[in-house]
Amino acid sequence: MKVHIETALINEAFLAGGECPICAIRQVVDERVLYTYANEGVMEDATRARVNALGFCPEHFAKLYAADNKLGVALQTSTRLRELTRAVKPVKNPKEANKAADAIDKSLSTCAICSIVEEHMSRYVETVASLFHKNAEFRALFSSGKGFCMTHYAELLRVAPKAGGDTALYLQTLYEMQKRNLERLQEEILGFCDKFDYRYADRPWGNSKDSVIRTIAKIKNNKKG
Ligand SMILES: [Zn+2]
Ligand SMILES: [Zn+2]
Repeated sequence: MKVHIETALINEAFLAGGECPICAIRQVVDERVLYTYANEGVMEDATRARVNALGFCPEHFAKLYAADNKLGVALQTSTRLRELTRAVKPVKNPKEANKAADAIDKSLSTCAICSIVEEHMSRYVETVASLFHKNAEFRALFSSGKGFCMTHYAELLRVAPKAGGDTALYLQTLYEMQKRNLERLQEEILGFCDKFDYRYADRPWGNSKDSVIRTIAKIKNNKKG
């Protein structure tokens, strides 16, 4: 699949100033891919073949079912069911049983939507590092952000070579902003805990009120598929 990268989407996500602009991009990409599977993509041969082979993760099955196209999800579920039924065969001994169980586990761990989203996201993360190198305006925007979730921080570390001649500066900036912002979150979440102490009960919430949910988003595994 050809991955089309929109720099406008990257700029928008960084301008929004959330805890992780890459998560914000991922959400848009995820919604778009899901839309395809819930609508016109349903009847395309290539899409059907992917669904047969990969199925969907629990989250995407639930989202597809919640979408308007119930016939679409029924057709996709039916072909996937046929594929899985084919994999159910008689087994004669524990060794064969384990092998069959491993194959089933493996086939249930894939998702047609997640795999496309991840493919797009690898390209988006690479583009962020290369924009840091090529575009001074974007570099300033990148550096003034609130850091990234740990999952995407790790991915941004991996794509450092895409920052070309600015790789060292990129890595230093990335590290400093991540450290600074994790420490900021730590203070906010401690402020949240203080509110449960009667001595501080009257203290204003400041940035603490939603700090637990923002911290969870920052430290949970945001990679799927
Ligand atoms: Zn993220
Ligand atoms: Zn999925």
